[in-house]
Amino acid sequence: MKSADMHAIRTGFGYDVHRLVPGRRLMLGGVEIPSPMGLEGHSDADVLLHAICDALLGAAALDDIGKHFPNTDPRYRNISSLLLLEHVGKLLEAEGYALVNIDAMLILERPKVLPYAEAMRSAIAGALGVTADRIALKATSSEGLGFVGRSEGAAAHAVAAIVRI
Ligand code: MG
Repeated sequence: MKSADMHAIRTGFGYDVHRLVPGRRLMLGGVEIPSPMGLEGHSDADVLLHAICDALLGAAALDDIGKHFPNTDPRYRNISSLLLLEHVGKLLEAEGYALVNIDAMLILERPKVLPYAEAMRSAIAGALGVTADRIALKATSSEGLGFVGRSEGAAAHAVAAIVRI
């Protein structure tokens, strides 16, 4: 099978889950959201940004977020995932890729994140150096079902399309 390079769109997929625990800040899409529970993790545990990072890395076949930012590395302890996303954007740029679009879905029972969606889109676009019209963000609850429904954690899915320019 032949490979197409010039202007061939590549897509990537990302998925992540983090546990909700009391006493942590809730960071989603690079925005702090008032909540009694936050996501647990080595970094700021921004589940949405992690899924987006993996979608971008996957589109470029550049491994995954765990390989680039190991959770055993003290440099990444409590780091803002916006910095990780910015780094991923620069990695792809260095490989000659430009962003076509990102579509992401956050799955969280509470709090409602709709009031923060525009701030998240702006933060994500800012970290990547693109305009917010490239970033789509959706959120849903889990209707009380499963680990998300029991507010034990949050999940996120993302797809990204990139093109070599
Ligand atoms: Mg993660």
